[in-house]
Amino acid sequence: MTHPTMGGAISISPTPRRRVQAMKEYHPPLGCRDLLRLDFNENTFACSPKVREVLGSISAGALTRYPEREPVEAIVAEYLHLTAEQVALTNGVDEAIHVLFEAFLEPGDELLLPVPTYTMYEVYASATDAHVVAVQAYDDLKFPFQRLLAAITAKTKIIAIANPNSPSGSTALHAQLLEIAQRAPHAVVLVDEAYFHFHGETVIDLVDVLPNLIVARTFSKAYGLAGLRLGLLAGPVESMRWIRRVLSPYSVNSLALACLPPALEDAAYLDWYVTEVLAARTEFEAALDFVKLRRWPSRANFILVDIGSRHAEFVHLMRAAGVLVRDRSSDPGCDGRVRITIGTREQMQLAIAALNNAVAKLKLGEEPK
Ligand code: PMP
Repeated sequence: MTHPTMGGAISISPTPRRRVQAMKEYHPPLGCRDLLRLDFNENTFACSPKVREVLGSISAGALTRYPEREPVEAIVAEYLHLTAEQVALTNGVDEAIHVLFEAFLEPGDELLLPVPTYTMYEVYASATDAHVVAVQAYDDLKFPFQRLLAAITAKTKIIAIANPNSPSGSTALHAQLLEIAQRAPHAVVLVDEAYFHFHGETVIDLVDVLPNLIVARTFSKAYGLAGLRLGLLAGPVESMRWIRRVLSPYSVNSLALACLPPALEDAAYLDWYVTEVLAARTEFEAALDFVKLRRWPSRANFILVDIGSRHAEFVHLMRAAGVLVRDRSSDPGCDGRVRITIGTREQMQLAIAALNNAVAKLKLGEEPK
């Protein structure tokens, strides 16, 4: 920093917290957004036409006002058979994770994280003074239930579990999640159900029963509203009160709030999209099996595939054929593995053609594993 009136150059700048200095910036991959996006696990098609109608009818006047989230929270709560006090809307699940960590993690606390998992848990945890205790998935990437139980200590403050998990697609059982919450009554157990609609199983029924369970849901995946940034936390009233203290009252914008009720109402559209993706997933699994690529069983709208040492070339060839996929090689225990989002059957025909071409060019499926 230099200033003409200060008699010479001063080369200092304000210093952020030490933890922030140690953080890396997180940049999701950009570019070629007009290609088939099988790299973010988004809905690859569209949101409900009813949502688009509402979006088209929003007046300029509506945009001049600050958003009011409470009435919409009440609608969502009713939909989930919960009370409005048990639900907080957020700017995507990402904000939900951020505010939850902000509200609960003290210096020295431990965040238990089964890994590999969704990147943003670690990103937001690294901005706090808590310790991340990574609990490695079993060799087949299954949920490390016993390891997780064994890792619970008096310092455990949050246990964050994506169910289904990303990038593996693996799941934890209802009974396992219940036991974890009971064995760590002093900790918040976050069950991130971002991919709930493809899995069909939930622990949201336990929110009324367990004082330490918080469930996250997103509208970014099955509902096709990732661009609007809409998620929620559902949990016991007391915990939700702490979370609301750190949550901006306006972080969910008016457009997102207006679109949420029609999105919830159009169950037929959601069912159609989920059914389409599940059918496409079965077809894509068969295509992977045909070329003898190892894959992990997935209960979500993506599949993790073992490409092996030529993973970077594979991603490159897929992109050249118009299909974006995500290299997860740097995730713990995921060397050589690539995650592919499942879209509609028609879209996946393009992905299968690109896959077959890449497999032939790189002679995959023939390598000894
Ligand atoms: N949780 C998991 C497990 C995810 O995979 C993702 C997105 N990839 C998110 C949360 C983020 O969801 P949102 O778009 O609502 O922030």
